[in-house]
Amino acid sequence: MKIRVSQYFFRSPDEIGFDNYLVLVLLLLIVVIGFLATITNYALQLSWYTTLSTAISTAVFLPIYFYTRIRRRYIVSKYAIVIFSLLILNIQWFINYGSTGPVLYLFIVLESFIIVFFKNYVKLAATIILLVNITVLFAIEYYQPGMFGKYPTDFARLSDLYIGMIVYFLISVYLINVAVKFYVNEQKKAQLADKLKSAFLANMSHEIRTPMNGILGFAELLKEPNLNGDLQQKYIAIIEKSGTRMLNIINDIMDISKIESGVMKISLTESSINEQVEFIYNFFKPEVEAKGIRFSFKTTVPFKESIITTDREKVYAILTNLVKNAIKYTDRGDIEFGYEIVQRKKTQLLQFYVKDTGIGISRESQAVIFERFVQADIADKMARQGAGLGLSITKAYVEMLGGTIWVDSEEGNGSVFYFTLPYDTCQQVK
Ligand code: ADP
Repeated sequence: MKIRVSQYFFRSPDEIGFDNYLVLVLLLLIVVIGFLATITNYALQLSWYTTLSTAISTAVFLPIYFYTRIRRRYIVSKYAIVIFSLLILNIQWFINYGSTGPVLYLFIVLESFIIVFFKNYVKLAATIILLVNITVLFAIEYYQPGMFGKYPTDFARLSDLYIGMIVYFLISVYLINVAVKFYVNEQKKAQLADKLKSAFLANMSHEIRTPMNGILGFAELLKEPNLNGDLQQKYIAIIEKSGTRMLNIINDIMDISKIESGVMKISLTESSINEQVEFIYNFFKPEVEAKGIRFSFKTTVPFKESIITTDREKVYAILTNLVKNAIKYTDRGDIEFGYEIVQRKKTQLLQFYVKDTGIGISRESQAVIFERFVQADIADKMARQGAGLGLSITKAYVEMLGGTIWVDSEEGNGSVFYFTLPYDTCQQVK
């Protein structure tokens, strides 16, 4: 509950980056503190300009907060925060007894935001402006000491200073803790990525070497001058199969690196799911029937209602991958796939399934098969082949389209892979 509420106000720093998270926290903090201060100032009947100054900062920052939270235009807000804060600090400094009040320390807090928000010359320029600003304040206070009022009592001055100090202290502790946690997380992620990269290299060299050996080995055998026609055809078929296998692996590697580097784009068009299901059925029918397995599909939605706005190529790749796996890991029985409309929490979804009566997947393996390079422990791994990339690409595609994927399987008794897609003709995909 606590996490959900804070997610609503701020979003998570892992999702949007620490600096952008700080923008949201800061904006909300200024709005809340400004609002409370305005009420307190009004209740204490302080001078009208003191009350007005906090009211104005609340009124300025509230729309900036909503703008940033909804439109996600963080960079504009960073400039807005620094410029308005500087203005307000100067006004507050003037109203709040210059250097004898608590405002001067806020320049240090502002500088720490500048360090997080900006890079290179913008950071340098903002820091110089801040230093010049402080120098000017010093000069004003030095040459015009009479401009400022004095605290009515020593107690008022001390309370103001110490309360201010405690508030800055708490804010700094909170933000430094969030920053440390964020960067420790980032470091862990980087270490994990490094480990996966090594696993990737080891796995890929194996996956590429095996078909390559097939191609080179059988090409060598083809050189035999007195080879009979049957054997020649057999060797050529093996070379072709190894070539196709290598091409598949290279395509998978390219897809996964596009997904990981974030360049894999979604292109939305209107597409009939019924048509896609039928196409895939007709495409794989000869291969499945040649294996002696029954093959069927189910589309319960009328054609017109089966048209949704989605990325046609990705839906095709998802279904193809799952059907291909079902064929690969099934030796007898049936393979059936299809989809239906289901209702989840007031929204309608398309729920797809690909069901086989194949070797099934153990509980432990079910937990990891969607991760990269994972192949469940199967006795004849070499006979089935695969780089363990198919399901991770499939999962990434499903999630890019706004759905989820899961598996229900029992070892020895077959598997059902399910995935959902939003059922919306004017679908919003992030
Ligand atoms: P691979 O290239 O090894 O098939 P995938 O990512 O497509 O890689 O699948 C990962 C693992 O999940 C496979 O190695 C296999 O052990 C298991 N798997 C996937 N689909 C099925 C299925 N329909 N039946 C049984 N096991 C499956």
